[in-house]
Amino acid sequence: MVQFKTIEDLGALDGKRVLIRADLNVPMQDGEVSDDTRIRSVAPTILHLMDKGAQVIVMSHFGRPKGKVVPEMSLEQLAQPLANVIKKPVVFVNDCAGDVVTDTLDAMEGDAVLLLENVRFHKGEESNDPEFAQALADNADFYVNEAFSCSHRAHASTEGIAHLLPSAAGLSLEKELTALENALGNPDRPLCAVVGGAKVSSKLDVLTNLVEKVDHLIIGGGMANTFLAAQGVDVGASLCEHDLADTARSILTKAAEQDCTIHLPTDLVVAKEFKAGAECRTISLDDVASDEMILDVGPATVAGLSDMLADCKTLIWNGPMGAFEITPFDMATVTLAKAAGALTEKGTLISVAGGGDTVAALNHAGVADQFSHISTAGGAFLEWMEGKDLPGVKVLEK
Ligand code: ADP
Ligand code: MG
Repeated sequence: MVQFKTIEDLGALDGKRVLIRADLNVPMQDGEVSDDTRIRSVAPTILHLMDKGAQVIVMSHFGRPKGKVVPEMSLEQLAQPLANVIKKPVVFVNDCAGDVVTDTLDAMEGDAVLLLENVRFHKGEESNDPEFAQALADNADFYVNEAFSCSHRAHASTEGIAHLLPSAAGLSLEKELTALENALGNPDRPLCAVVGGAKVSSKLDVLTNLVEKVDHLIIGGGMANTFLAAQGVDVGASLCEHDLADTARSILTKAAEQDCTIHLPTDLVVAKEFKAGAECRTISLDDVASDEMILDVGPATVAGLSDMLADCKTLIWNGPMGAFEITPFDMATVTLAKAAGALTEKGTLISVAGGGDTVAALNHAGVADQFSHISTAGGAFLEWMEGKDLPGVKVLEK
């Protein structure tokens, strides 16, 4: 079990300056924050540190300014939204390092939080320049990482700085790491993974890592087509990476060697067009016409998978089972998601899911609240599923 440093390990924080790396890279629409999930997720840590008497400084990136000052990507626009969520005054300073930050901190009074300017306005952020990391560290006594979604990148604000200050995982990072560790590091078994979505090529490393670790691997979505085709199924006009047939076969071989049971669709939903209300058929594997696309896994497959899931203790899910954005091709994803949600509520299954479209699909199925843990991190969640060390997390290990 990996142990990482938590806020408790930092000791007394009264009167100390604590610099939090948050992910305030929130979606905006017409100058307004359209989804404040990421702001809300860092709020408990800010308030907890303030309770302990710390002076809290928050830093983040916003957009991709690539080492230059881009006014539209200023974090100033996040100061008021942050204040609204934490219900404390937020002071903004137009740089993230240097004397201007020191002077602002020295002049601050009461229980205000300091929000720094976009760390990516400096080239040293993404190059993890030690001098820039030191400049960030100079204005704080402690460092707290609350940006799991950025922790797969060794940047100055996620990795470099943690070598320079006593550091810890924030409350939401701690929760995320514990959930992930329970799902893949040290899981209750049988452990099942669902890997779906569009393409095998984007999730090759995920598949190769999972066959070594899970007892059951459900392959759905467009990537199932590549596996079916590799086994000689005619997939018609489906999304399929025919050039990856050898790769798919070697994953199947490796799975058999590792006692990992692979579950591929045994029946299919096909249509000639990918649009709402398109005429569709539920068919067996040998019945796809040359002008038809496989857009969802069939009901017999899903019923079998739901039964299998009832005997599992842990589930990790990335990627929808079908083209869920358009009804009725959301059937397999929604049905399996509801089964997983119900088993989790019953207390027999630990369920962890992540990925941009996966989170959207689980919201669509109405089960997001039932899952044990849903990760909103895209790239970082996938790299974790690939079994990679995340530099921003690694550096916080005890
Ligand atoms: P995530 O963002 O959760 O990692 P992906 O981006 O890998 O997931 O995959 C999601 C996409 O896969 C969706 O846009 C969905 O429509 C598509 N998809 C799923 N099944 C199929 C299929 N059978 N044919 C074509 N596209 C599919
Ligand atoms: Mg996606």
